[in-house]
Amino acid sequence: MAAARQTGDTDLDVVVVGAGFSGLYLLHRLRELGLRARSYERGGDVGGTWYWNRYPGARCDVESIDYAYAFSPELLRDWVWTERYASQPEILRYLEHVADRFDLRRDIVFRTAITAASYDDAANVWTLVTDAGELVTAPVCVMAVGSLSSVKRPDFPGLDTFAGPWYHTAEWPHQGVDFTGRRVGFVGTGSTAIQSVPQIARQAERLYVFQRTANYSMPAHNGPLRREELAAVIAGYPERRRAAEQSEPGIPVPWPATRAAFDVDEEERRRVFEAGWAIGGIGALTGRFTDIFSDEEANRTAQEFARSKIRAIVHDPAVAELLSPRHFIGMKRTCVDTGYYETFNRPNVELVDIRSAPIQEITPRGIRTAAAEYDVDAIVFAIGFDAMTGALLDIDIRGAGGRSLHEHWAGGPRTYLGLAIAGFPNLFTVTGPGSPGVLSNMALSIEQHVDWIADCVTWMREHGVERLEATPEAEADWVEHVNELADETLYTRSESWYIGSNIPGKPRVFMPYVGGCGRYRRRCDDVAATGYAGFTASRRNPVPG
Ligand code: NAP
Repeated sequence: MAAARQTGDTDLDVVVVGAGFSGLYLLHRLRELGLRARSYERGGDVGGTWYWNRYPGARCDVESIDYAYAFSPELLRDWVWTERYASQPEILRYLEHVADRFDLRRDIVFRTAITAASYDDAANVWTLVTDAGELVTAPVCVMAVGSLSSVKRPDFPGLDTFAGPWYHTAEWPHQGVDFTGRRVGFVGTGSTAIQSVPQIARQAERLYVFQRTANYSMPAHNGPLRREELAAVIAGYPERRRAAEQSEPGIPVPWPATRAAFDVDEEERRRVFEAGWAIGGIGALTGRFTDIFSDEEANRTAQEFARSKIRAIVHDPAVAELLSPRHFIGMKRTCVDTGYYETFNRPNVELVDIRSAPIQEITPRGIRTAAAEYDVDAIVFAIGFDAMTGALLDIDIRGAGGRSLHEHWAGGPRTYLGLAIAGFPNLFTVTGPGSPGVLSNMALSIEQHVDWIADCVTWMREHGVERLEATPEAEADWVEHVNELADETLYTRSESWYIGSNIPGKPRVFMPYVGGCGRYRRRCDDVAATGYAGFTASRRNPVPG
């Protein structure tokens, strides 16, 4: 910090960290308000998660027409999505187009990570430190760092002795990887793996998939989006978006569930699940009855249906059994695939059970489990992220009185609305813990968060507020509310990154807000309408001296 130098960015109104979906829209909104904003981005270009996750098969599991900005009718009209679920290259092109169209890159500093951020109580400004040792100051700081951007590193013993190359899906080489003729070991069976495994299986000579926990995956039924179909959706887009905004998941729900699973007999339940499976997508089964997320027995009916589908797809009954998850469905993110289970019918693919025989080490030749050694030429790790808190805690954030975020969150994350943190004045987070972000259509949630933050900053300026800070009481109430809602579901009885259980030692706290986008939006709107209830606003530094 002592060696850091000022970059000259002392004239900013707002400093933004990140230039993904959130950071880009923040820059645009703030600029429209006449504010001077700049974003610092560790990647070499815009895109955030879509910049980094270039692994084969990467695509979004929210339909492309909904996983998009709605703030510009012209952008909406001009951009042509080509598939029901957009691929990573298409989404990245879209974000690049947004950056070009709104001339955003001139206010983004690329290849620059923020390592520390501290609040000066006397001056009411944030000072950020870059990895080049430069200082950036602004009265307001927005952390738009993403929820799934702090990569979980493989720490298997012996990895450094492996003779071949290894890759993490979230840091995939830009030039791609050719696995033709190679034996590949693939570790992990989450959403990323489920998209990538079918693609790599088609190329590799042999593919070993190392599975610790089987996952539920729904068919994507992806396909081309016809121009007429897209045009019809765009024509009715404002209504579609309004409906999505008031929905729970942030996407239009054409057939909201109205019945509990046991309101109907077994035959009808099966018919309903079949209809869901035929439509596909993340809520194919969990969205069919009202109590799948809250009632163990209702949940079991959806699980059993999913397992019956796996048995019907996978030829070898032993492999089908191994691929059949036993946990609650929907409580760990449901995956969406194209041909995942079918991949295990291929002669060149082998499923390796590392629940019963864990990986013990990586050797120069491959992967050794407690049962056998697998010779491979390359290893792919799709082992996930330190979700929701990781990217924030990777930065040494210090608020009022020098209190560190690490300290404040030692028992798990605490926020007010997922947007602000008590003791960290003038700091906002986008889709932070306590927000519905990761349980929703991220694009929609991001727009809502950014609009709320932009309105809040405008209000601060109009009212001469130099320092705005969530009160500890408001934060405590919000944390309690988030927990109460989560406790009504099966989420808190499940292992997942939502609850931090994928990272050893991470506090076990259910992080997202399960109340849904509509309810959350109304609450945020009420807070704004009542002059930012739950915040303390000061016109000048309240710290004596
Ligand atoms: P993930 O869901 O956390 O899955 C990680 C996988 O790696 C799990 O199967 C996990 O097994 C395994 N694993 C982790 N550490 C391991 C270890 N030390 N040894 C053996 N196995 C290990 O990560 P992800 O698949 O990257 O997905 C993360 C999230 O990103 C998703 O839930 C989703 O929200 C998002 N995502 C979305 C899309 C999409 O839009 N379609 C695509 C990809 C990702 P255990 O389960 O046993 O821990």
